[in-house]
Amino acid sequence: MIFFIIIVGLVGALGYFIYNLDLYKSYNDYNTKEIDKLEEDLKNERTINSETLKKLNTVAYTNPITKLGNIDYFMDETKKLFEEEPDEDYTLIAFNIQNIGKINQLFGPTEGDNVVLHAARSLRKVGQRERHLFAQIYSNLFGMIVKGKSEEYILSQVTELTNLLQDYSENFTVLSSFGIYHITNTSQPIMEMVNACMLAQKFVKDPEKCNYVFYSEELEANFKQNKQMSQEMEEALEQHKFLMYLQPMVDLKTFRIVSAEALVRWDYPGKGILSPYAFIPLFESTNLVQKLDYYMWEECLKTIRRWIDNKIKPTPIAMNISPIHFQNTKFIDHLDELCEHYLIDKNMLILELPERGITNGGAQIKEIITTLKEHGYTLCIDNFGSMNSPLNLLRDYPIDRIKIDRSFLNQNSDTEEGMSILRYLIAMAKEVGLMVITEGVETLEQTNLLSEIGSDVAQGYFFSKPVDLREFDQLNHSMVQRVYQSNEYYPTFEDLEKDLDLIAFMLGES
Ligand code: C2E
Ligand code: MG
Repeated sequence: MIFFIIIVGLVGALGYFIYNLDLYKSYNDYNTKEIDKLEEDLKNERTINSETLKKLNTVAYTNPITKLGNIDYFMDETKKLFEEEPDEDYTLIAFNIQNIGKINQLFGPTEGDNVVLHAARSLRKVGQRERHLFAQIYSNLFGMIVKGKSEEYILSQVTELTNLLQDYSENFTVLSSFGIYHITNTSQPIMEMVNACMLAQKFVKDPEKCNYVFYSEELEANFKQNKQMSQEMEEALEQHKFLMYLQPMVDLKTFRIVSAEALVRWDYPGKGILSPYAFIPLFESTNLVQKLDYYMWEECLKTIRRWIDNKIKPTPIAMNISPIHFQNTKFIDHLDELCEHYLIDKNMLILELPERGITNGGAQIKEIITTLKEHGYTLCIDNFGSMNSPLNLLRDYPIDRIKIDRSFLNQNSDTEEGMSILRYLIAMAKEVGLMVITEGVETLEQTNLLSEIGSDVAQGYFFSKPVDLREFDQLNHSMVQRVYQSNEYYPTFEDLEKDLDLIAFMLGES
């Protein structure tokens, strides 16, 4: 019996191999000899053999490996369909394997090819059963025309395909990303429809959470704006349109400013001062953030140098390090060079490493963090609590501080249970010798609670919003020199002077 199964298996495999070989052979043959012959026949106005024409058509319309229809097939058949049934509603769904590059890199190109074959099989299964028109538009872009516009039905197709794709392997996840375009005008060029899907796909940010986006005109406008911003970025850097704002961090025992976080703003022509949320995610998706960070770090070092040169006591500055830098150690050399160039002691700098870049980072991240530490930088995990990282992160990396995320504080500071979580987290961090900073402190109540449960430092609108350098210098001067050293009266912060509660609190302290 086993012998019989083996023989059947071998014969099957041999058949499949010959079939593929034949297809390759026919593809190559017809793309060379037969096409030459066809050209010769046409030149001599001889009739073409109908068998040759059929084979040529098959070759011209089929992807030789997956045997799905190709882009020419897709364009011709879609046109035919729209002409035959012009009154139907149609939707184009296009998808690709989002992590095919990673799969090729980690498991080899043969595995990558197999995943593409699997995608083709999945599409064929759904497409044939549902009678969609489907094709392999490019090597890693598949498309299908679905009749109708019902969102429920369209998403059921997306979900089924997503699940089929994910069934490929237990060793890794096949991530797909879908762009969906409701066709409003069937005479629109098909490639424009495909482009609309591809544009929508670009807005799939985290395919593990949500792997589809519907095309819309706003999306297109957003895309154009993003493109424009990316193109303008370098010029804006040269023209110093990116501004460094500083937000003080205040010691909860002495109420002195002990450091400041550098936060970028873009002075954008016609739009005013833009928040980093309007451009940092975009620049992170294109690696442009590297240049921006380099610029900001240099601004920080120049500022510290200016303080020193003007005999102003320098305030240590916390700089944001985008996770994009964690791909290699180049940025550490750059930081070292900046410190040498501006003659700045590394203990004047705090590097904020976002939790999202560290969690699941593995050995490479650990190596980078260790190198940074060896080079003498003070390291802080930024946005701690935003990713539910395991607490052993605190023990396993040579870090000095954690900055508890604003959302974590907001979620927990209102309830007893939440406060217990905060208290526990702070106790754990202190147990392993870390300084705790809490971000997003907006009220006196929060300040008092945090002080009680052991947070060392606070940052938030309660103390000050991020301000430009000139304002920071004034704020720093007033806080350090007048209020917190002499303890005579509370400083006249623009944001806080009307806060009677705070004044009462401060008077009580003095
Ligand atoms: P982040 O590093 O978590 O910075 C803290 C953010 O919280 C800042 O937003 C700050 O203005 C805001 N914030 C501080 N206190 C309060 C508060 O009491 N209430 C509220 N509602 N918000 C508060 P911002 O300046 O808009 O920066 C947003 C994010 O952009 C930063 O989050 C950081 O991840 C990123 N970013 C800013 N500058 C840079 C930069 O130069 N390089 C990189 N890579 N990222 C930057
Ligand atoms: Mg930060």
